[in-house]
This record gives sequence, C-alpha cells and structure tokens, in this order.
Amino acid sequence: MVDWKSLKKIDAHIHILPDEVHKANPDADDVWEYADMQKYQQIMAENNIEKAVVMPFNDPCLMSMGFTVHAVHRNLCALKKCYPGQLYAYADVDGRNSIAETVDAICRAIDDGLLDGIKIHPNNSGIVIDSDYNRPIFDFAQQRGIPVAIHSYPNTDDDVSAARRIARVAERFPNLRLIVCHMGAFQWEWLLPIGCYVDISAILPEYIRVYGISKTNKILRRFGAERLLFATDYPDSRILPPQQIYDFYFDALNQMDFTEKEARQIAYENAKSILETKKLSMQDGVNKMTQIR
Ligand SMILES: [Zn+2]
Repeated sequence: MVDWKSLKKIDAHIHILPDEVHKANPDADDVWEYADMQKYQQIMAENNIEKAVVMPFNDPCLMSMGFTVHAVHRNLCALKKCYPGQLYAYADVDGRNSIAETVDAICRAIDDGLLDGIKIHPNNSGIVIDSDYNRPIFDFAQQRGIPVAIHSYPNTDDDVSAARRIARVAERFPNLRLIVCHMGAFQWEWLLPIGCYVDISAILPEYIRVYGISKTNKILRRFGAERLLFATDYPDSRILPPQQIYDFYFDALNQMDFTEKEARQIAYENAKSILETKKLSMQDGVNKMTQIR
C-alpha cells in the first residue's frame, strides 16, 4: 500500500496570502488566516510536501493592498524569493484591464519575475473561459510553452467555467499546456478526451462524499496517473476545515489502488515536468511561430 503522507509531494494548488494582506486584516477569522507561509512551512515539513504552487484569484484585492495585477505579481515574486525552492506561483489576470495590458503583465511577470504559469478564474473575473478576451492569453501561452491553470467548478452547463467550454478552448489551442483545476467538478466527463492535466484540489473530498471511495478511484483511473495532479486548494477546501485537509486526502488516496510508481507520478513527477520544462523565451517563441508559418 502506498503511504501518501510520507511520499514526496508537490501540492499543485494552494493559496498563500502576502503578509501585507494579513497585516491589513488582523481580525480576519476565517480559513484565510491559515493562508500564511509561516504556518504552511510547518505543514510542508510534517507532510513531506517539497514544493507548492501558489494560485492567485483573478481578483487583485485578495492578493495585494495595491489592488492591481502588478502589485499581485510583485507579492508573488517576493514570496518565491523569501522562501527559495519552496514555492511556484502563477501569474494573475485582472479582467478590468484591456487584453493587451493583461498579456503584457503576464509576460513581464514570467520573464522578469520568474513566475511559472498563468491562472484563469472565470468565476471570479466573470469572463467566460472561451470568450474572445482570453484568446490572446492562450495564444501567448501556447507559443511560449507556459502552463495555464483554469478554475473549473461549474454549477450549470453554461457556467463561465463549464468543462465543455474548456474542451472548446483545448480544441482551438491543441498545444496548450493545460491544467483543469478541480477536475471540472461534476462535469469531468467532458475532459476525458482532451489533452489536459486535472488537479484534484477541493473536489476530491466532494467526490468521496457523493460517490464513495471506490467510484472516485474509478473516475481518477479514467484519467490515468499520467494526467492527475495531487492538489488540495489549502486552506479553502470547501467542506473540510484547513487543519483536516491533508489527513483527509492521504486517508482517501491510501485506500485507492494506485501503485507506488503511479502515486509518484500523481504526487510529484507530473507537476515537476509541467513546471520545469523549459519555457521558450520571447525570441524562441517568435522563431517557432515563423517556422510553423
Ligand atoms: Zn483555489
């Protein structure tokens, strides 16, 4: 049996708030109090989490006191620098900006600040995932080999983050390095035929509540170990208090039938390869596109 607690892991989806946000909200009494790197370092050590991916929200008010996408990127870069080797971080999108400003901000954050990918959260920004606004972001990411993580926890068929909309994006951008967060929730079947990774953050406890362990195991197997990413959404896992998230995940995964090798892929190797495959520089991206044309 695989022991998921002691297995070396990358948590591919967590939230840490910058110190300036914590300082500005000293009386906050909710799960976000736990989104603190001092506290999280302890959790990493206890649970053999080597690295974690910090996701922004597409809502700059939550990740900065400057309330701009640039302020969010500065905070994310500072977090990475402050905890060397422990964090990856994805660039943010502020839908109030023009698409040209958005792509420019992402480009600068990745080239200058060394952020690792792009997070798109249609439900926070209100921007439909397969809308024209997002096309230049996908274009840019596809050209440069930058991973894009899309929040998908839809409630209805035509939700802004509906899985069938993501399938349409994947069809238009077949070489995009795409991660669907929360597995598209209960619309996961739409994602089976497309070339994407899925992260099990927030949704795993919900699947187990609704389907039980054995059926959840079968759903994960439909995707296969090479497409799954261990991820929790710590500290905001919807139905679990922050202190119980990791133990719940380990207990559930320990009961599933993944081999040691598959567990290593899900827990660590898939995320490592997404995040550490060389991204193309601006010039490489341009050359590649000219070659294709
Ligand atoms: Zn999240």
